[in-house]
Amino acid sequence: MSYRSNFIVGEKTLEDIYEEIRSIYFSNSYPWIVGYSGGKDSTATLQLIWEALEKLPREKLNKPIYVLSSDTSIEIPKVINYVDKNLNLINKAAQRKGLPIQAVKVYPRVSDTFWVNLIGRGYPAPTKEFRWCTDRLKIEPSNRFVIETVNKYGEVVVVLGVRKSESLNREKTITEHKIGNHRLSRHSTLSGALVYTPIEDWTVEDVWNYLLNFESPWGGDNQELFEMYKQANAGEPPVVIGNLFTVNEQSGGSSRFGCWVCTVVKKEKSLSSLIENGETWLKPLQKFREMLVETQDPEKKHIYRDYKRRNGSIYFVKGNCKDGSKKLGRGPYKFEYRKFFLEKLLETEKEVNENNPYGEEIKLISIDELIEIRRIWRLEEGDWEDSVLKIYKKVYGKELEIPREEIGIFSAEDKKLIEMLSKEENVNPKLVIRLLNTCQYNIFSSRRTSLIRKLEKILREEWRSEEEILREVDE
Ligand code: SF4
Repeated sequence: MSYRSNFIVGEKTLEDIYEEIRSIYFSNSYPWIVGYSGGKDSTATLQLIWEALEKLPREKLNKPIYVLSSDTSIEIPKVINYVDKNLNLINKAAQRKGLPIQAVKVYPRVSDTFWVNLIGRGYPAPTKEFRWCTDRLKIEPSNRFVIETVNKYGEVVVVLGVRKSESLNREKTITEHKIGNHRLSRHSTLSGALVYTPIEDWTVEDVWNYLLNFESPWGGDNQELFEMYKQANAGEPPVVIGNLFTVNEQSGGSSRFGCWVCTVVKKEKSLSSLIENGETWLKPLQKFREMLVETQDPEKKHIYRDYKRRNGSIYFVKGNCKDGSKKLGRGPYKFEYRKFFLEKLLETEKEVNENNPYGEEIKLISIDELIEIRRIWRLEEGDWEDSVLKIYKKVYGKELEIPREEIGIFSAEDKKLIEMLSKEENVNPKLVIRLLNTCQYNIFSSRRTSLIRKLEKILREEWRSEEEILREVDE
């Protein structure tokens, strides 16, 4: 027996663990989906699987192992680059060694991304009470891949690098759905998915002990990972980067790398620690996040946020005013601030790239997201001036290269005309624009009644100004 096989982690030798992995791998024909976030726990899990199977004859390895990585698109650029580099190495090494391992990256749908919701639709920066992002960015993309694989193969085994010692909640999740005495459990929400957690009894020390004693079999660098943890946590216990399938963010993600822009946590630690430890080129990200945190100040909400909800209704909040009077509750960010945020985000992207010592281009927002934001702004805000294109040109000094197919027949001149006529007729110009937009986008619909219903809904929205509403309340 080699040094490696006899190496003891927790209460087992590595050979015992390899045996367990092999017996579960061969116990059924379901493909495996290994959640890989690039963090220490998922790295250790994948490394164990790789080592357990690598020595077997290739004809025996007859079912796929997907290494699934979920990218929220708002993770710290240094972390994204590290994960991408490893996914690449995993695919190349697996191909070279003839292993049925394939790394796959999943993303949120374009219409669900952080920026499309925050800048496009005006969703306020997430808080503990209104955390609209976790499901859309983290859970849904991974679950979608699992469901598609279940549909193709009947069942799958999801392999996770979770550990009982992470928290009591985590321990409960791991043990709750176990099938008898077996090492597999039923996934709590995804039918057709079994869960296997090879390192569930390991401690943090076990994980590092293993990773730092044995090199990554796909050519990754476990020492680099260790350094990154140290750098991002400034001496705190090492943590998990992101999380797959069983997102547990009760702590608001405070002990995780998480998203650089996260406003759920009061004090963001990972990005700050990276900056304090020399990654000063990331400072503009910190500044942008602070700007969003500022918009959450209860005293300033009325400055940044609309008095109407996205569905056009209004609501009052009682007792929040110092003088005890009623005040209007707040909805999405005002359009002027959403434009401002886009400009600041692009400026941040530009600045980060100008100072990035590592060379790779950092994209904080994708072209697809810009296209989607442009579509939403034109349709919902009557942004016939095409502000996305203008802002992009202002920041980058060049045209945004996107397909220029027309997404609306109205122009900035048309808007000016409507604003002039609306003033004469004492009508809210935004109402006229919304009605015209709705007619235009439904022009080819054969169902006239559906168009009429949409127009009626718009007419039922609140179209009085904030001042008019408050005046009427006082009377
Ligand atoms: S880390 Fe923060 S911003 Fe990212 S998904 Fe979780 S709550 Fe949302």
